[in-house]
Amino acid sequence: MMLDASRLAPPRRSPATLAGAVIALWLAAGDARTQTHAAGAPAGTATGALQPPTVSLSNMQRRLPAFLAGLWGEARARGISRAVFDRAFADLTLDPEILDRLANQPEHDRSLSDYVAGLASPERIETGRRKLAELGALVSRIEAAYGVDRHVLLAVWGVESSFGSSMGTRPVVRSLATLAIGDLRRPHYWRHELLTVLSILQKGDIAAERVTGSWAGAMGHTQFMPASYAAHAVDFDGDGRRDIWTSVADALASAASFLKAAGWRAAEPWGYEAILPAGFDFAHSAPTAARPIFDWMALGVRPPSGRKFVPTLGAMQLVLPAGADGPAFLVGRNFRAILRYNNSVAYALAVGHLSDRIAGSPALAAAWPATERALDRAERQELQQLLASQGLEPGGVDGMIGGQTKAAIRTFQIRHGLPADGYPDTRLLERLRGGRY
Ligand code: CA
Repeated sequence: MMLDASRLAPPRRSPATLAGAVIALWLAAGDARTQTHAAGAPAGTATGALQPPTVSLSNMQRRLPAFLAGLWGEARARGISRAVFDRAFADLTLDPEILDRLANQPEHDRSLSDYVAGLASPERIETGRRKLAELGALVSRIEAAYGVDRHVLLAVWGVESSFGSSMGTRPVVRSLATLAIGDLRRPHYWRHELLTVLSILQKGDIAAERVTGSWAGAMGHTQFMPASYAAHAVDFDGDGRRDIWTSVADALASAASFLKAAGWRAAEPWGYEAILPAGFDFAHSAPTAARPIFDWMALGVRPPSGRKFVPTLGAMQLVLPAGADGPAFLVGRNFRAILRYNNSVAYALAVGHLSDRIAGSPALAAAWPATERALDRAERQELQQLLASQGLEPGGVDGMIGGQTKAAIRTFQIRHGLPADGYPDTRLLERLRGGRY
């Protein structure tokens, strides 16, 4: 839930948390057609360099009274008292910096390798190991209660808020009110989250002035959006309040609660790095080619030297986040649970890899491609146009590389004898541009 979204439209994370390191990659890397996250922006917001339409601050200020009047009707219908409502919006001003952030999305994304390296940095690994040692008894109890691997919980915490050091300090009511009025693309999403905050305040879990978070409204150690908080936060330290802002016990248990509800299966890994044999058919990286781990091994797929594959129930999918020339991963159900936290393959890989490093595993065995560069939005759209001109249906020319675009890329690659990794890189675009089929 917590990446900094220096390039996403409605960011999922406060810029303070990861300083833009993280989110940028995914979308371009292609697996984030939709972004939903415990702390995240709504589906479809991850659109790279799209400039979301916003309204001017003065215009917004003029609309504020009517906005609040309309909101009160909805709040009252949800059982929110006038006193709670008035207190939440007392002396409310809108936050001009949020509009600036929405309007100034960077054109270029960071590479996937930068993203993962930035999240699984030596400092974050070291801090994670130290926190794990400090909190061993607590995380044992959380692990026993929810069945979610402690190293994954530490990694989520580290990625979301740098272990609580970057939770965001903006009043969430102000941020969400600003977004609900000012972000013309997603007003209903922000309005719903704002109403959910009011319900949280009505319930009394936390005082209004302490409900702080990122500029996109992601809150606390775990950077939950209000709706995720409402559905999944738990009181684990037994004081009667679900406090993800100051109680590490509540925060880590809430993350575990979220992942368990997302389908986490106890005693299974999130996934693992895989070494592919020479001559491997990269078409196996299609989602439809998922298969049990033993079937992958029968295809010659192996763990890195000195490591082993832990058997899992169900099928594992092969993920090539940087295409055929980069690292390969086999992921299963628990990876999909992490994606529910933040629907970005890059995010989930970063969390998984960081969790392995905190647990003592070595760095990735495979290198990232030296020339790796994410396509920008205009290039992604051009790629889709060129695929469409070949009679391959990329699922729209929207600059978002989803499953349909990847399937179209694979078809193109197979037709022309290229490694069918479905990966949209500059070489593929050049090839399409040049008509060298
Ligand atoms: Ca508590």
